[in-house]
Amino acid sequence: MKRIGLLTSGGDCPGLNACIRAVVRTASYYGLETVGFIRGFKGLVDNDFKILDYKSVAGILQRGGTVLLTAREPRFKDYQYRKKAYENIKKLGIDALFVIGGNGSFQGAYLLQKEFGLNVIGIPKTIDNDIFGTEYSIGFDTAVNNAMEAIDKIKDTTMSHERVFIVEVMGRDSGFIALEVGLATGAEITLIPEYPLPLHIVEEKILKAKSMGKGFAIIVVAEGVASAKELAEILTQRLKDKDIGEIRYQVLGYIQRGGSPTAYDRIMASKFGVFAVEKYVAGEKNFMVAFENGSVVLKPLEVSFGKIRVPNIKEYEINNILSL
Ligand code: ATP
Repeated sequence: MKRIGLLTSGGDCPGLNACIRAVVRTASYYGLETVGFIRGFKGLVDNDFKILDYKSVAGILQRGGTVLLTAREPRFKDYQYRKKAYENIKKLGIDALFVIGGNGSFQGAYLLQKEFGLNVIGIPKTIDNDIFGTEYSIGFDTAVNNAMEAIDKIKDTTMSHERVFIVEVMGRDSGFIALEVGLATGAEITLIPEYPLPLHIVEEKILKAKSMGKGFAIIVVAEGVASAKELAEILTQRLKDKDIGEIRYQVLGYIQRGGSPTAYDRIMASKFGVFAVEKYVAGEKNFMVAFENGSVVLKPLEVSFGKIRVPNIKEYEINNILSL
């Protein structure tokens, strides 16, 4: 029986299990056996794996995290460890490696292709949704919904106490989460790394909200722009004579990354997994799964290298029009 390898690599996110299930079940449907490596590339190097059959992925579709575990594996940047990984792959009789990961993981996989001729297939995941070449990456929708639910709750307090509240969401280099969460929660101000807003404009917007009789304001800030704590301190200080009161803040952190995936993430993860295996069965080699104009498509892995996706300015403008 032909064998494929499968691993999850980089940061975890909701929807990984749905994708693992989809790959394993599609493989099984086409008469392939799946070898699941534990802790991403670390499992490849250490030959740590388990055979995944149709039944072994039952009951995981709705669970966050990854049953294969995930890790960062710095040794994979070193040729001798990639060689060791490849030898393990060959010994197991694996014909192609499926990597559910982000940009970095795709680069690791690409090196296995370049150096040893292994057929590698990337399936994009990251809550940041910033992988270049695909309009969707597994995990984003759940992260946005998690953040939205948290902000809805914070908004109750913000409105009742007529406060300015800063909420920091994930996104070190990317503003997609902040942008969509800002829209979904009706945030008065949204701050993202791609379109910097000077501090005096933030102040003006807070004062405008107040002058319009809106007793409260929610500011959603992507972590890559500023820390919510520092921003709250600076703005409290700068607006101390304006009767704004103490500006509170909340860092949402890891709650955005966990929990049961949304229906959208389950469906996208399932579609990506089925597509990846079906293209492999059809003879395609060395590609990444991508989402483009409403369809799941195939692209060379290298498309995602060296660039990150940036939000459309139009979407940012919608936020501005609706916010105040
Ligand atoms: P995310 O950033 O969303 O968590 P990612 O896949 O981009 O996902 P990284 O931490 O960048 O996460 O990479 C995951 C793993 O991929 C690394 O720990 C390493 O094992 C491997 N990797 C990353 N970049 C390279 C590279 N240039 N060469 C070889 N391996 C790499």
